[in-house]
Amino acid sequence: MRAVQLTAARKPPEIVTVPDPEPGPGQALVRVDAAGLCHSDLMLLDMPRGMLARNGIRLPLTLGHEAAGTVIAGTTLAPGTAVVLYGAWGCGTCRSCLAGRDNYCATPAQPPGLGSPGGLAEYLVADERYLLPIGDLDPVLAAPLADAALTPYHAIALVRQELTEGSTALVVGVGGLGHLAVQILRALTPAEVIAVDTEPAARELAMTMGAHRTSATVTDRADVIIDFVGTQETLDAAAAVVRSAGHIVIVGIGRGALSVGYDSPARGVSVSTTYWGTRPELREVIELAQARRITTSVENFTMDEAVAAYGRLRERRLTGRAVVVPHR
Ligand code: NAD
Ligand code: ZN
Repeated sequence: MRAVQLTAARKPPEIVTVPDPEPGPGQALVRVDAAGLCHSDLMLLDMPRGMLARNGIRLPLTLGHEAAGTVIAGTTLAPGTAVVLYGAWGCGTCRSCLAGRDNYCATPAQPPGLGSPGGLAEYLVADERYLLPIGDLDPVLAAPLADAALTPYHAIALVRQELTEGSTALVVGVGGLGHLAVQILRALTPAEVIAVDTEPAARELAMTMGAHRTSATVTDRADVIIDFVGTQETLDAAAAVVRSAGHIVIVGIGRGALSVGYDSPARGVSVSTTYWGTRPELREVIELAQARRITTSVENFTMDEAVAAYGRLRERRLTGRAVVVPHR
């Protein structure tokens, strides 16, 4: 089969031909119908060889941690079942995993596309417990649910009790994750949603996704700030604008760091990081999409165009999510 692989550190990914994967016990073989490109992939593409090794990432690696497809062979899943891949693979036996919170597993497995073979390929294999049925959802719109929707859903769940009538939420960075964050906030909370992005096209997308207002910088006071950029600049700005008893949720891996003490940020503020989301939350995200309460804004690419699509993601010349359709 054809696959998009990182073959050497700090080299552009390549389209290669590799053997079709074979499912092991408890696994299903899935034909990939769509796979999303995430900003986190760029981090992997930029990692020096030593850092890849320290993170246990062996090359060549098939990229892609956001995939939807059709079961070809399984044991509990019938052939033909349309599924989305849950990517935060855990050990399956620790307290977190048993509670469905595989994303906080004590001894996590390498996620697909980030250490294990991923979804930017014609086929993938995965444990059946990580393949969630999507019914008749369009796979191109469903693939990004696995991360671009699940990660903000999990971040919003953490602070949802604070987002009551009259509250304000800032979404910082309206790309793949952020454009879904705007919709999830609108669907689940009565908060005023202000979307922040440096790019005019991203701000426009935020308005069509239901933001009340947009801004190019983090300047509005807010009760909740969900930062999908996470650089020093955006975190410092978040700390300056957060209201007392508010929350800063750091999702973006911009490698900034916030100093938190009694006097700063404001009184009663909590600061959290979040990682991906839980399996039950992915089910809830699928239900939101099936009820048409959230949707994905996508740009489609063939597998041959995947490398160029990564280039556009890096240059901020994409709006919404880039999705590769391997069988086209
Ligand atoms: P993306 O590239 O699609 O979107 C990022 C958006 O941020 C773009 O629209 C860009 O214009 C905007 N932006 C960049 N710098 C900005 C700034 N200083 N101020 C305002 N806007 C700015 O990226 P994505 O795929 O949505 O991922 C977002 C971030 O989340 C990345 O850092 C990614 O690595 C991270 N991520 C984290 C998790 C997690 O579990 N914590 C999961 C997935 C992705
Ligand atoms: Zn575990």
